[in-house]
Amino acid sequence: MTSAEQVVLNASDQAAVNGTHYIEEVVRVPLMRDLDGINLWVLDPAALDLAPESDYDGPQNRECRCGQPEECAVVVNEMAEESLPDAEELMHILATALGFTAIKNELIDSAGVAPALTAALRLQMSGPTDGD
Ligand SMILES: [Zn+2]
Repeated sequence: MTSAEQVVLNASDQAAVNGTHYIEEVVRVPLMRDLDGINLWVLDPAALDLAPESDYDGPQNRECRCGQPEECAVVVNEMAEESLPDAEELMHILATALGFTAIKNELIDSAGVAPALTAALRLQMSGPTDGD
């Protein structure tokens, strides 16, 4: 089969091909209109502090094609014991799926300026020091 003939499988079919179970969950992410009055969806800051909420009543296996309902139920129960991703974990899940790498920028201070740049600006504003 050439690459042009390859069939794209949905996730539940892919799980069946892999001999695994397709267990799904949906997480709510609270969004809000931008506080500057722009018609733009942004993350509600409350999302950073809240425990993630399931949009289902726990993990589901309705789409699983394993044909092994008892084993599948065990895996559903195991996934129910796993905590849902928090905001940071969800960011990494999305970044990975979209082909990005998320790196925390700890070089930015509260004013959004890198400390090295701040130091350079202070030096420039104070002028060169006298050598004598
Ligand atoms: Zn299954």
